[in-house]
Amino acid sequence: MDCIFCKIIAGEIPSKKAYEDRDIFAFYDINPQAPIHILVIPKEHICCIDRISSDNSAIIAKIFEKIPQIAKDAGLTNGYRVVSNCGNDACQSVRHLHFHILGGTPLSETMA
Ligand code: 5GP
Ligand code: ZN
Repeated sequence: MDCIFCKIIAGEIPSKKAYEDRDIFAFYDINPQAPIHILVIPKEHICCIDRISSDNSAIIAKIFEKIPQIAKDAGLTNGYRVVSNCGNDACQSVRHLHFHILGGTPLSETMA
């Protein structure tokens, strides 16, 4: 499968790792939109939020259980935003489910 994030998980494309366990990989975004910008992804290839189901939702729960630790370890002590773009209107550019963690500065009050 020609998926850039699967290649990052496999180590075929280098990345700056923020966290890893059996099910989850987190790494710094190559084009940060905030002083701290981390992407958290499932190791299993799930294309987007539209493909979350009872078959794979346990991994989504694990991601959200880990996000506070990933954010804290990255130095985000004053809050952060979690975003996931799904599909064309949201401008999802990589079709492997990912959650952006953004912070390190006061963020925009608007989201769209
Ligand atoms: P999306 O637009 O799909 O919500 O977000 C995809 C994100 O992946 C973008 O913020 C983009 O900068 C990031 N990205 C794309 N390719 C790479 C890469 O090869 N390495 C890293 N670290 N981030 C990437
Ligand atoms: Zn993938």
